[in-house]
Amino acid sequence: MTLAFKKKDKDKGKDKPKKSEDERVLIPEVRSETVAATPGGPSTMAPMASAAAVQATSLSHGPGAATALAEPDSASPETSPVTDAAPVATSPDAGPSPLAPAPPAPPARPVLPPVPDSLRGAMVTSGPYKGRLGELLVETKRITPIQLEEALVIQAASGERLGESLVSMGALAERDLVEALAVFFAMPIANLHVEDIEPEAAALIPEALARRFNVMPVRMNDDVLMVAAVEPTDELRTELARATGRKVGLMIAGQSDIRWAIDSNYRALTGVNQLVAAFRVADEARRRTNEAASPEVVADDAPVVQVVDRILTQAMRDRASDVHIEPTDESVRVRFRIDGALNEVLELPASMGPGLVSRIKVMADMNIVERRRPQDGQLTTIIDGKEVDVRVSTVATIMGETCVLRILDKTRSVLRLNDLGMPEDTHHAYSKLVRAPFGMVICAGPTGSGKTTTLYATVSEVASPQVNVMTIEDPVEYVFPSINQIQTNEQAGLTFATGLKSILRQDPDVILVGEVRDVETTRVAVQSALTGHFVISSMHATDSVSALHRLLDMGIESFLVASSVLAVVGQRLLRRICVSCKTEYQPTDEELAFFEESGGLPKESFFYGAGCNYCSHTGYQDRIGIYELLVMTPEIRRLVVGWATQEELRAIAVKQGMRTLRQEAIGLVQQDITTIAEVVRSVYTL
Ligand SMILES: [Zn+2]
Repeated sequence: MTLAFKKKDKDKGKDKPKKSEDERVLIPEVRSETVAATPGGPSTMAPMASAAAVQATSLSHGPGAATALAEPDSASPETSPVTDAAPVATSPDAGPSPLAPAPPAPPARPVLPPVPDSLRGAMVTSGPYKGRLGELLVETKRITPIQLEEALVIQAASGERLGESLVSMGALAERDLVEALAVFFAMPIANLHVEDIEPEAAALIPEALARRFNVMPVRMNDDVLMVAAVEPTDELRTELARATGRKVGLMIAGQSDIRWAIDSNYRALTGVNQLVAAFRVADEARRRTNEAASPEVVADDAPVVQVVDRILTQAMRDRASDVHIEPTDESVRVRFRIDGALNEVLELPASMGPGLVSRIKVMADMNIVERRRPQDGQLTTIIDGKEVDVRVSTVATIMGETCVLRILDKTRSVLRLNDLGMPEDTHHAYSKLVRAPFGMVICAGPTGSGKTTTLYATVSEVASPQVNVMTIEDPVEYVFPSINQIQTNEQAGLTFATGLKSILRQDPDVILVGEVRDVETTRVAVQSALTGHFVISSMHATDSVSALHRLLDMGIESFLVASSVLAVVGQRLLRRICVSCKTEYQPTDEELAFFEESGGLPKESFFYGAGCNYCSHTGYQDRIGIYELLVMTPEIRRLVVGWATQEELRAIAVKQGMRTLRQEAIGLVQQDITTIAEVVRSVYTL
């Protein structure tokens, strides 16, 4: 079976005679057609397959790449090496490109019969591009010849695929690679962010197989199982066809999209229903025999044990920071906090509540008999091959014990200061401040405003072999290789205050105090800052100015505050509009009024996230920090000593150039990064 250019591709080529290479015409088309595709429908396939076809037999995409893409049922006689392939005819716009530096093999394109619609994308037998992937990328100006040379060296050493090497060295965006591969393999792109995965399709390939082959089944096209793959080779198609007993059609998707699709579609919580049923059976039996103990807590394969494992696994995959397990009237509610907002994920029978909490207590080495007093614990477990620390807190409510788990992913890398998203000038001023030999810098914000991230980024910035950095934290969220970190332990009498006092006897230069929340700790921290140490700490306060007032309210003398504090950073995390479903919309009158009175400049269009698979239909994905940096200038110090009001302090700070949180947040709306509603939610309230 052979394929040819669609008519309109040729026409486009004629319109632009200078861009004589077909790829130049084709690639923008891939992009536009992919974007224009309707969600859920079969038309989400970009009809690349119809583009053209020549032999793919010599196409080298690194070790293990496709050599022949013939679908077994329709193997064509043309699957001979390129050197043997005599073109039937040459397409009118083929020929050496005036832009590309002398391509080794000038593309000669056979004009072949058109592809039947039923075969588009599903069972294409060969790729349109005659040459190597690297050459295609160079010719289409996605990479430079030098980058290609570098990548080939890396590829030879690492054995990975050429595309992978280019993406990992930062020469090529994954999206561009996917588009190039779509041309290269003449296959449609699977837009996993938009397309709904059909459960029947997903059921045909179990999770383990999907992970092993790096594929995501998407839907059934009649009797053909359409599968998105990173590397859509013929061998893969054969393997999948054998494993599923179906005809398989392949589509292309990026590595990160496939991984995301697997994580979000094969939910760890899927099998929970069966576990609940098993639990009910065991529970009834136990009731009948009046057994007092909870045997399900003991056995490793007991339903309750497995449910806890699955909840934790799913929480990690969903990037949740906290898991809430709460008994209600009729059930046990499980909620995840993701990007700062709580989402209900599971409802379990009320009778399961005590067993779940007991299981977690056993894991966290807590007292399972004590059910009325609040308890804290910590556990370490392996989830999806990663070591994860979980901090556990239980409290008895009138409905029973609630359990909150804070997930601390130790493998997350610590951000550097310039990764925090501070504007250039704020970053510059802040990094100068934190290099002061002594004094105190405070990060202020409510819970979940990213204070810990800022503290850690600051510490990793100032840490060096010449500096003794010591920390007292609750909890230790990241472990630094060369820093002395202390975890508070109230039972052992190690509080922030006592820990800080012992640190002072350890000859420190830089001290990180996780949080100043009581007078004693604050007083020692202020004293340390005044006696030649650089102290960085966080404080629960609305903004920079209110943090200063909080110190005064605690009873710290105003002259001590004025002389010890170098700066206060007020901060918040705002959710970013999901890039996959970003849509223009008309804000309400109230929103517009808020935008204007916060200093927003006139703006033609506003955007929000309409909701898609990628963002779990929240319209937001990831967060970005906003910061207001209050520097203690002589004038501010004088005002602090004189107990000036918050309004006076803020007015002077703004006059001296401080941009407030609200101004910074509105700036992000101006740049279409977040929404007015999100600004109202996170900045305007507390
Ligand atoms: Zn979205």
